[in-house]
Amino acid sequence: MPLEELIPQLEFAQNAALLLGAGISYDWGIPIGYRLPMNFGKHNPKLLHKHHLYDLWETANTRAAEERYTKALVNAFRSSEVLQSALLQWMNKQPAMLGYNPEIKSKQPDDHLIFDIAWLKGIFNHLITTNWDFILESYLYYIYWEAYANPFMPTHLQLNNGVEIEIDYALLFFNDLLNETETEDELMSTPRWDIIARDVDLPRQKAELHPLWKIHGSPFFLACPLCSGVNRWKLEIDKLDIGDPCPSHPDHTLGPEIVFWDEQIDHAPRQVWEALQAELSKTDIVVVCGFSGSGGDEYIRSVLESHPNTWLVNPDIGAWNPKSINYIKGTGTDLAKALSPLL
Ligand SMILES: [Zn+2]
Repeated sequence: MPLEELIPQLEFAQNAALLLGAGISYDWGIPIGYRLPMNFGKHNPKLLHKHHLYDLWETANTRAAEERYTKALVNAFRSSEVLQSALLQWMNKQPAMLGYNPEIKSKQPDDHLIFDIAWLKGIFNHLITTNWDFILESYLYYIYWEAYANPFMPTHLQLNNGVEIEIDYALLFFNDLLNETETEDELMSTPRWDIIARDVDLPRQKAELHPLWKIHGSPFFLACPLCSGVNRWKLEIDKLDIGDPCPSHPDHTLGPEIVFWDEQIDHAPRQVWEALQAELSKTDIVVVCGFSGSGGDEYIRSVLESHPNTWLVNPDIGAWNPKSINYIKGTGTDLAKALSPLL
């Protein structure tokens, strides 16, 4: 099925969702699946020895063995601040994890920027990602950085192909009273988006806020057990670190907000997943890109295969049932290109 058939569907959709997996960041050099914990082991043999993980890593020659090693790493990781810090530092050094960089923007694929704009402009009502990298967020940050430079004016962004995109101020911000007793002069502009990664993020959501569902979290977020992530931005990561006290709850320390290391590997927290499924059940179309549908993706695939109108854009169909979905052979870049005329 050609990609062109998807576009009219999106134009007529009342409530569309875009679900993005690791495949969309592959061109940035982000490792897929167990490659990441395996690569981490390769560069940190002493740490693996110290946590009795080295033998498991060394003999991980099959997918099942990689999973065994990863599960053991997860267990050790949960109670070891040393491992947590080492992973964060190691990931920070990966060029792909630097995210959007204005100096090399033209050399980076701008697929993530296009997906963000398609969501901000309402082509998609929901944006969901399982990616640990924060390329989507760093592009959102870039859009807001541009918007803050000219308050109340439309924001202009240029895509790599030279096309200029305009985004209305009202699509990016809503006006909030500074506090309930203030007058209209005391309005402040609040960004319209926020992240849902864990159960504690759910009650914070207001009707005006568009959540970016980051259902597998990210090691780049730091979180306190009592409040939601306090350090969402990589730009601020140097100011707070793993093991530091939470600024709001000094008796609790900050840990990486990563769902991978939770009870199950690559599984969304239960309440987050339930809330998201309720939203997905109201959508008239779901577009999926960058998911093989196997391994950790299975729980997502089974829900989306039962949705009446799911479209998969992927280089291959993977484990997806062709009878349950509309399959389009293509990459994240192909999808972004097809979306850009709608922006
Ligand atoms: Zn806290």
